[in-house]
Amino acid sequence: MPSNVPLSHYFAETWDTRDGLPHNSVNALAQTPDGYVWVGTWEGVARFNGRTFKLFTRGVLTGLPDSGIRSLNVDKATQQLYVAGSRGGISVVERERWQALKPAQTMVNFAVRSGDGALWLALEDGGLVRRTQQGDEQNLLPNVSAYQVFEQQEGRIWAATNNGLYYYEDGAMHSADSDNSAITGAIYSLAEDRDGALLVGTEQGVWRYVNNKFTLLHNALADDSVSSILVDFRGDIWLGTINQGVFRFSEYGLEKLDANVGLPSNRILSLLEDNEHSIWIGTNGGLFRLRQAPFTTVNTARGLSGDYVRSVLSHTDGALYIGTSNGLNRYTQGQVEQISSPLDAPISVLSLTSSQRGGVYVGTYTSGLMYFDGQRLTTVINRDTGLPSNEVRALHEQADGTLWIGTAGGLVRMKSAEEVTTLTDKQGLPGNFIMALAQDKQQRLWIGTGVGVAFYHQGQFTTLPLREHFDADYAFGFLVQDDALWMATDRGLLHYDYQSHRLRKLGREQGLPVDKLFAVVNDKYDHLWLSSNRGVIRISQAHVMASLDSEDAQLEFTLFDEGDGMLSSQANGGSQYPAVRHHDDSVWIATARGAAVVDPAKLVRMASVSLPVSIESIGFDDEQGFLPNLDKTSLTVPSEADRLSIAYAGLGFIMPERIEYQTKLKGFDDNWINRGNLTLTEYTNLPPGNYEFHVRARYPYSEWPASAASFHFTITPKFWQTLSFKVAMIVVLALALFTLYRLRFLHLKRSEAQLKLRVQAQTRSLAEQAKAFEHQATHDQLTGVANRRAFDKWLIAHFEQAKQQQQPLSLAIIDIDHFKNINDKYSHMVGDKVITEVANLIHHCAPQEAMFARWGGEEFTLLLPGFSVHEAQVCAERIRVLISGHDYSALADGVHITVSIGVADSQGAQDYDRMLAQADNALYQAKQSGRNQVVVYQKPMP
Ligand code: GH3
Ligand code: MG
Ligand code: MG
Repeated sequence: MPSNVPLSHYFAETWDTRDGLPHNSVNALAQTPDGYVWVGTWEGVARFNGRTFKLFTRGVLTGLPDSGIRSLNVDKATQQLYVAGSRGGISVVERERWQALKPAQTMVNFAVRSGDGALWLALEDGGLVRRTQQGDEQNLLPNVSAYQVFEQQEGRIWAATNNGLYYYEDGAMHSADSDNSAITGAIYSLAEDRDGALLVGTEQGVWRYVNNKFTLLHNALADDSVSSILVDFRGDIWLGTINQGVFRFSEYGLEKLDANVGLPSNRILSLLEDNEHSIWIGTNGGLFRLRQAPFTTVNTARGLSGDYVRSVLSHTDGALYIGTSNGLNRYTQGQVEQISSPLDAPISVLSLTSSQRGGVYVGTYTSGLMYFDGQRLTTVINRDTGLPSNEVRALHEQADGTLWIGTAGGLVRMKSAEEVTTLTDKQGLPGNFIMALAQDKQQRLWIGTGVGVAFYHQGQFTTLPLREHFDADYAFGFLVQDDALWMATDRGLLHYDYQSHRLRKLGREQGLPVDKLFAVVNDKYDHLWLSSNRGVIRISQAHVMASLDSEDAQLEFTLFDEGDGMLSSQANGGSQYPAVRHHDDSVWIATARGAAVVDPAKLVRMASVSLPVSIESIGFDDEQGFLPNLDKTSLTVPSEADRLSIAYAGLGFIMPERIEYQTKLKGFDDNWINRGNLTLTEYTNLPPGNYEFHVRARYPYSEWPASAASFHFTITPKFWQTLSFKVAMIVVLALALFTLYRLRFLHLKRSEAQLKLRVQAQTRSLAEQAKAFEHQATHDQLTGVANRRAFDKWLIAHFEQAKQQQQPLSLAIIDIDHFKNINDKYSHMVGDKVITEVANLIHHCAPQEAMFARWGGEEFTLLLPGFSVHEAQVCAERIRVLISGHDYSALADGVHITVSIGVADSQGAQDYDRMLAQADNALYQAKQSGRNQVVVYQKPMP
């Protein structure tokens, strides 16, 4: 079970009418099993796919008499959604299908089906109605306003009304009021806690009702009207109130979320937990959602002294220190404590480091070095007392207590208050602007400056040739490991191997999105985290190591930015530490808008979620919006359509815009095609046939799920490909001729010649058109050679003739070997070119009298009238040699094509079908015996 986080760690988002909500009062919320989130408002119900709201209002489609929606409930038994509201309207939705039920007398506040199949209707001023599956209806509490009906796990049904709490027994409702009842007035909401106790939301807080006794859940809530209750998968209790926002009751105690921290309104109308455990809150000012994004940010809204964070430090005392341009902060267990400044103004913190004395050294922008002992901040040293500059960017304390201070004006070694030495370029430092310090196991002190990296060892500075080799100047951060040192520089990530002294680099050339990296941190999953101006990069260390040695390596990584919960993707660098791994294995990053934190374990967990996908609409040419026929999930494409487009949505709400898609069109291509973040796929000029479209979705850092959404469709022949059109064409021609014939008899001598000409022209163009259509119907679009349809006709005709006239007839089937590899290796486009080229070769090599067709895909047929099987074999062999010897380099480098050919003749076949089967059989033999050969069909031994 995922670990819980404080309420303030959730990443919040809001939607209102500007984002496509029909109305800002979110009366009801539900998630259907297909993954959609439904939002019920006064102006209709909106179905949300993570990006857009699809609106449903009163009318023929929904069958609702009014657009005011009060209640959304999914029936567990049938998985249908019950939608109910104003004017007593009740409709049931399943996928795209709506079905209206008999309306209730007054507005429905709540409609839900109980386990016994009965439909319960809580009505405003109309009582509580129970409608059985047979349609019998009974108003069990005619004189109340009812708000909610709730069925406990153990089966007891409860009703919340303006007149108190009721339960259902022996066909009637009974008041749950005991004599000593502690609660009076209306009851709005009901739920069940993790122990199975009934929770009752009233005008005076939430009560637990156990053994006929009400006890108040929490004193702090006693004055609030509780409009909705949600018990989440952990058992934590969420409460929506009428005027005070949302409360959560968990291991963190009672936490509050209201307009002060971003809720659009304090009036809560509905609550929902979705299947990714995000919490949706319906207010009367819009929809609000709390999700656990990969990143959360600690900023001023959470008590930080400033948003511009330059340094983060994981201290041995367990706390995390956050240095901002507006002061120092200590962060423990979700709480921020601001450390007050001893100076007149808040200090601007640049750098931090732990001290063995138990406190924290604090380097500032303008006030030199300070020390925080756990209680107070005090000045240690500044320009007046011995520093070359007050700008302290990096700090490191040695085991013997010696402190190294990196300033904007040189490196300072401080053994004690009296023993302070400044080292600059005069002593061998590459530069005096110091930004990073670290020590390795060999006791070398690594120094990152504005003009390269050096290390200090036994009184000597040694500079690494960063600029010469990599054009790198700035070194912003180090990660010290046992055998090597990682450096974040302005030209990418550098790796220095202590043993071999080899320095290697990975940067933009290898696919990193930026030049400048500020920090390198590792996590317990063997990932490196790199911070940059454009977000945070996560990359496997093993992958990086493998890539270091290969010239043309392309790095695979995940880039996290605002979409992942960071408030700003701009990380800060140039002072220490720009990022850090904390004791709890979380990774912290200093950004321009707070300290961003990611829990790598949470990411690994989120990656295991399997996303549902919904095919939302099918479009033909420029018309969008056809829905797949949901009964059969199949569809016949109108014959005149040239372009088919399919829109789909991955129903994950944590990061919908980052969901990735793959599609596959069976009947056309058996491979998954990457579609990136696109939610629309188009196909043009698909040949007639049966197809099966598949789509699947995932979050960027997870595996592709095994399951996918799919639907079948059929593309019928174009009108000019149909028989009826051809007949019509002939009729038109005949009519034209007949007109001509009639004109001859009109003896209108003057106009006759003219008319004749015109009709002739018309006839000609009609004939040409018919020919063109005929050509299209009998020829393959890609190669221009005859298609299977034409070939089948030839075969039938010639087979008959050959039998009647006792003449030989042979047939060859030619199949390109391993053609899939061509598609895979060089793309479909090259594949198409190869098919065309091979068709041309065969066409030109085939004898005069041969009839040649593309039989389908990468298969061709050759009909050879008058050819004996031996002559056909010779001819096929010539084709095979030609194709295998041909140079295909014009199409793509390194393409080699061979074909296998099966030959059969009419002699040994009773009908043409059998001849085809025999040639196919021979082709199969050719494939089996190693391809690139011609095999003649042999009758099997009896
Ligand atoms: P084998 O030697 O056994 O025949 O191997 P193969 O890969 O050629 O076998 P198979 O018949 O299974 O695969 C044929 C492939 O040709 C499948 C399909 O993706 C591809 N293909 C079919 N029609 C076309 C087309 O019009 N264009 C392209 N580019 N590829 C096509
Ligand atoms: Mg094939
Ligand atoms: Mg093949």
